[in-house]
Amino acid sequence: MSRTKAILSSRDFSRGNLIYLLGVEGLERREIFEEASRIKEEEVGNKVYFRGLIEFSNICAKDCYYCGIRRSNGKLKRYYLTHEEVVNAARYAWKEGYGSLVIQSGERSDKWFTDHITALLTDIHKHTQGEMGITLSLGEQTEETLLRWKEAGAHRYLLRIEASSRELYEKLHPGSAAHSYDQRLEALKRIKSCGYQTGTGVMIGLPYQDTSHLADDLLFFRELDIDMAGMGPYIEHAQTPLAGYTGPMLPLKERLGLSLRMVALLRIMMKDVNIAATTAMQAIDPIGREKALKAGANVIMPNLTPVAYREGYLLYEDKPCIDEEAEDCKSCLEGRIHLAGGTIGYGEHGTPKHFLKRTKQEGK
Ligand code: SAH
Repeated sequence: MSRTKAILSSRDFSRGNLIYLLGVEGLERREIFEEASRIKEEEVGNKVYFRGLIEFSNICAKDCYYCGIRRSNGKLKRYYLTHEEVVNAARYAWKEGYGSLVIQSGERSDKWFTDHITALLTDIHKHTQGEMGITLSLGEQTEETLLRWKEAGAHRYLLRIEASSRELYEKLHPGSAAHSYDQRLEALKRIKSCGYQTGTGVMIGLPYQDTSHLADDLLFFRELDIDMAGMGPYIEHAQTPLAGYTGPMLPLKERLGLSLRMVALLRIMMKDVNIAATTAMQAIDPIGREKALKAGANVIMPNLTPVAYREGYLLYEDKPCIDEEAEDCKSCLEGRIHLAGGTIGYGEHGTPKHFLKRTKQEGK
């Protein structure tokens, strides 16, 4: 028996074993993907859930070294969607049977912003008969804000830790208090304690990162007992400081390969969580997201941001589908999911089984 097979059957996911699994090639690599596929089928089935993605605004108070919408990027035209544009996108998703939405934005926590989001949540539910599952991805927020948004009808929250290693995190962010690792970690824990279905994630193939960091990321997800994960390859954006990094970097294809392996290993380790096939995977490979579905992902986020704004939300270069209307996006995705052997969970929230078990609830 190969060492990979032995680790998978003992389910001993120690740091050393994870580092080993992140590095194997050939037959042993295939054994990982086969195990992930088996566990996916057994635990969550072949249903893929759509989360309509609304990129509400690119106005951001943060200055992360890797991100195209960072505050110091003066070349970017800043926008926020009107109330009507958001509600229309939500109604579109509802009519198409998407079941749930993600509202994502550059990060800010001022009163105008937090009140605006509360009003949007209330209005979205009013116009969709309260049927939509709503995920927020709006950065670090206070308990008061998180509870208010929950009260207004948000169900889930995604806050990527970006890099669970403090030392790596600090290399990717300015040293200011606003970018403190401890604050981000506290914010993530707060999301969970406020009762949200909680998601986090990391970028893969970053400068200074090696497989020991990625092994620690997987252990971090398990330790935090998260319900959902969104992970994807890091892709340079020319208008950011990190793009000027001249040290060794993995080629893009290898970053994708490693991202797929992370998806497979997380599916194997945490079995019943929701895992997203992220857009950055598609930026590297036209069928990157389908590969992620095969590797163990079960969530896809079709973009519903009105096309006129999409240029403004370029987190990284070559972001795909920036000129594709929501309708085209949907039929394209349907074909792709069927090709990857999946069916679509229309009209369902697609609540992670992990959350339902953890909180002993019935879900929809
Ligand atoms: N403001 C929100 C949402 C941020 S944008 C928040 O703070 O959570 C969503 C995600 O895009 C980020 O969490 C980050 O992981 C990813 N991202 C940003 N820049 C990227 C890059 N250059 N390559 C790949 N992913 C990137």
